[in-house]
Amino acid sequence: MINLFLLGLPGAGKGTVSEQIVDKYHLTHISTGDMFREAMANETKVGLEAKSYIDKGDLVPDEVTAKLVEERLSQSDIKEGYILDGFPRTIVQAEALETITKRLNKPLTKVISLEVNEKILINRLSARFMCKQCGATYNKITKMPKLKDTCDRCGSHDFYQREDDKPEVVKNRLEVNEKMNTPLKDYYQANGLLTSVNGEQTPEKVFENVDAVLGNKQ
Ligand code: AMP
Repeated sequence: MINLFLLGLPGAGKGTVSEQIVDKYHLTHISTGDMFREAMANETKVGLEAKSYIDKGDLVPDEVTAKLVEERLSQSDIKEGYILDGFPRTIVQAEALETITKRLNKPLTKVISLEVNEKILINRLSARFMCKQCGATYNKITKMPKLKDTCDRCGSHDFYQREDDKPEVVKNRLEVNEKMNTPLKDYYQANGLLTSVNGEQTPEKVFENVDAVLGNKQ
């Protein structure tokens, strides 16, 4: 069983590498960002509460986020393990996760940190765009849809730029997240779960490194 936390600043490639891991290891991908975006699109109570924070690039309060994750981790579809992407982002959340996963008997087994410098992140985020229909992520420089103006995953022709990928928000978002990342890395370094991977390489090379950390299962 692999229960993985993928750590990295926005734009580090967590979404892309998660897809590759899911393909090979059949883990359940749990992205709090995706869950919040879905909740906002459906205008649920959590979505409406989260929107005011997300649109500014701030973090949603810990209690709201931890509850969302606990509900998701409790569901029965997680058979081969999970990948957490975007959670925990604070030490309070890391501690909450420890309590939650202990209760559910699904403890973290690995933490991988994708390392990318800030200049590259800003370039990647401002070039990023999403499918309005299914949320698939593309990039004007590195990952255009295979067929012009058509989503690879769902075939939709409708794309948009995330509010929080707009240049005026990106800088605050990176700053907020960077401040939080260092203590998290220290936390997982201290308990022996952390491995760092160079996220500035091509997606194929990044996955090769991640795959090796996960045990290279055939
Ligand atoms: P992401 O797609 O991971 O960049 O998340 C988008 C936004 O959702 C973040 O900028 C936060 O506002 C919110 N969010 C996602 N995950 C968390 C979390 N673990 N704690 C607090 N806010 C979060």
